[in-house]
Amino acid sequence: MVKINAQSQVYIILGNPIAHSLSPAMYNAAFNSLKLNCLYMASQVEEGQLQAAIQGIKALGIRGGNVTVPFKEKVIPYLDGITEEARHIGAVNTLYWERGKLWGTNTDGPGFLCALEKEEPNYRDYNHALILGAGGAARAIVVSLALAGIKNITIINRKREKALELAAKAHTLGCMASALDWNEGGLEEVFRGRGLIINTTSLGMNPQEDKMPPLNPLWLGPQHLVVDIIYKPSMTLLLSSASKRGCRTMNGIGMLLEQGILAFEKWSGYKAPVEVMKRELERWLE
Ligand code: NAP
Repeated sequence: MVKINAQSQVYIILGNPIAHSLSPAMYNAAFNSLKLNCLYMASQVEEGQLQAAIQGIKALGIRGGNVTVPFKEKVIPYLDGITEEARHIGAVNTLYWERGKLWGTNTDGPGFLCALEKEEPNYRDYNHALILGAGGAARAIVVSLALAGIKNITIINRKREKALELAAKAHTLGCMASALDWNEGGLEEVFRGRGLIINTTSLGMNPQEDKMPPLNPLWLGPQHLVVDIIYKPSMTLLLSSASKRGCRTMNGIGMLLEQGILAFEKWSGYKAPVEVMKRELERWLE
């Protein structure tokens, strides 16, 4: 165990609430395994205090870290710069220093792609992705899929205007994108015609594990790869229903890990100890 002392470098995650965050456990395990004199802390920032919190990061010499709900979008005006990916996504989850400036980037979408590529190296062969939900995570995933060259994306969301807005964003990145809501006719055909289905809604997340997006499992079959980005539980009702229908499935733990690896490498400059971080996450998610 590395001893914390006056030379320790401090990293931080800002959010509200933050007590549930797995990041301190995952990153401190990484620091310990690399024997780095570093510490990663969580800070609950109250509404209206975000600008002061960012000034605090600068004033106190905090080395970088992360931003989570509800500040991923709100933090942007207070940073010195953001990456192109973060600009497209419209949200930041990672803070790092470059040439004396505090920058923001977004590793959620790239982390998702890394996890997907590990499960299905040929994911680009799916010429059509179906996204369930149009919230913050959906935006990161749609932008990253579009930037990776997926040409056709369909988005289904409860509030159709949010699906329309996200489809318009995908259009600007060269995608053919369409927006639907759950009351639309012909959803069965939509599901049958898409190989890659990605649930980004929170339906089925702990503690509401008896919920799933309002689709009929009979619409699913062996041609589908069904991804649920929820990581708790690791087997959602959607994934177990899909599995019973012969689909391949993937849960959200890979995305959680990969976005964390990318963030760690960005703000620390060290190669992430992947197995240590994975074990720590799995321990906390048990
Ligand atoms: P968000 O911005 O609040 O979006 C929530 C989405 O779920 C929206 O599309 C919302 O539809 C939909 N939804 C919620 N309740 C619904 C209901 N009763 N019926 C139909 N649709 C409903 O949340 P987020 O940040 O995108 O996160 C979404 C999920 O992704 C969470 O479970 C989160 O844990 C998970 N996530 C996982 C990772 C990872 O690393 N694996 C990373 C980020 C997020 P409306 O727009 O119509 O309200």
